Amino acid sequence: MKKILFAASECVPFVKTGGLADVVGSLPQAFNKSEYDIRVIIPCYHAIRPDWREKMETIYYFQMDNRIYVGVKRLEHDGITYYFIDNEQYFSGIVPYYDMFQDLERFAYFSKAVLSALPLIGFRPDIIHCHDWQTSLIPVYLNTVFQGDPFFRGIRTVFTIHNIRFKGEWDVGHIRWVSGLPNECFEPGLLVSPYQNRSIPRDDWNCTMMRGGIVYSDYVTTVSNTYSWEIQTPGFGEGLDDILKWRHERLWGIINGIDYKVWDPKADKRIPFNYGLNNFTSMRKKNKKALQKEMGLKEDENVLTFAIVSRLTDQKGLDLIDQVMDRLCAMNINLIVLGTGNEYYENMFRYYQGKYPGKVAACIGYSEDLAHRIYAGADALLVPSAFEPCGLTQLISLRYGAVPIVHETGGLKDTVKPFNEFEDTGTGFSFANYSSSDLIDRLKHAEWIFYNRKELWKHMQKRGMSEDWSWNNSMQIYKDLYSRM
Ligand code: ADP
Repeated sequence: MKKILFAASECVPFVKTGGLADVVGSLPQAFNKSEYDIRVIIPCYHAIRPDWREKMETIYYFQMDNRIYVGVKRLEHDGITYYFIDNEQYFSGIVPYYDMFQDLERFAYFSKAVLSALPLIGFRPDIIHCHDWQTSLIPVYLNTVFQGDPFFRGIRTVFTIHNIRFKGEWDVGHIRWVSGLPNECFEPGLLVSPYQNRSIPRDDWNCTMMRGGIVYSDYVTTVSNTYSWEIQTPGFGEGLDDILKWRHERLWGIINGIDYKVWDPKADKRIPFNYGLNNFTSMRKKNKKALQKEMGLKEDENVLTFAIVSRLTDQKGLDLIDQVMDRLCAMNINLIVLGTGNEYYENMFRYYQGKYPGKVAACIGYSEDLAHRIYAGADALLVPSAFEPCGLTQLISLRYGAVPIVHETGGLKDTVKPFNEFEDTGTGFSFANYSSSDLIDRLKHAEWIFYNRKELWKHMQKRGMSEDWSWNNSMQIYKDLYSRM
């Protein structure tokens, strides 16, 4: 039996701000439990709903380094053991993340606490699978501070990059102080870039926690093949392309899957009308009408309804949406937006809702339930992201028969096959250049096909719905990876 510990900063169903939580929540479930004992460890945030927190039992508490409290809580859910690192000082906020300055200290603490807790809780993993910068110091601690301890000998590490934009960066002085790591870690080429200008004082050097995860772990993965190549270039690498190129033989791109139990239009209890491959056209129209009513739009099952379900940040291509909005609203369409995040974009969509009443409806907030109803009722989902490591919304929309319209980058490129009108192939619309003219061109093409080539649209939906974007395929690749270690 292989024992694996997933260490992450968020996990469905306890706490979620983005796709990372979906992945950490659903990937362990994909493995056969008689072969793999996969457990998950995350911080015990106050942001976790009280009904979950009440179910946790405290299994151990101790003083780390004789000074900082670490509580370890445990909860069994759906056959998986979850551990939670508890510390009021660090995790009592109402949101999981604060600002980067504070988060560096909080997640350095978390990473060290994970390793410190292991000998005490009766679980010695063969592999620790770390996710994103928040846990990227685990391989560093393992290979330095914890190296002499026989308990840790032979434990291997995988580090998965879900989004390289967030990388845990500050100066050497601060990161050394919050992490307590030895000086040797801050040499150029380790947590510091090899190109660091050495004429400035060492404490002011730029230091990146994610670099530590990449340098010190046995394997590095990211969440799509295209993104694994993109991040080796200066345009996408966020200053880490040098180290990723250097480690390219140990860098795997493994596409994410989605949880087919949660995302299943046949059995989804959150949507008004369930459907499958043989009745999706009529049932989706009913869902669309119900959705239009809920969002305050004119009910018309025949009008092309676009949707956006997204964190509202620069990454998601919302500047392009802004540029095309007036041209888009001149078309015979509806646009439904569900999202939260950057205030600028929140207000932008509020503004367009006011400018085009009955045509644009924006729900600024976070709602799992509404997200399900949108995937089941909208005709097409817009994902024009500037960059997208994998993207889950396009996978969900394929599963639900909403045609994705995407920018050809990262996982979007790997998962959406471009529609070809003449061969009747493809599962969505895509554009190669990140520009508003290319986006509007695709949107107009989609409009034309939707109204004038209904059969082709239907075939495209059917092809998307017939694909398998569950964890089945990617789980096999992770298995292969784990077995090499
Ligand atoms: P990212 O991780 O960059 O946010 P992904 O596409 O990988 O993007 O994952 C986004 C996930 O979050 C999807 O499951 C999507 O349905 C969900 N989501 C995003 N915004 C909202 C929202 N406002 N309400 C509900 N679900 C949302």
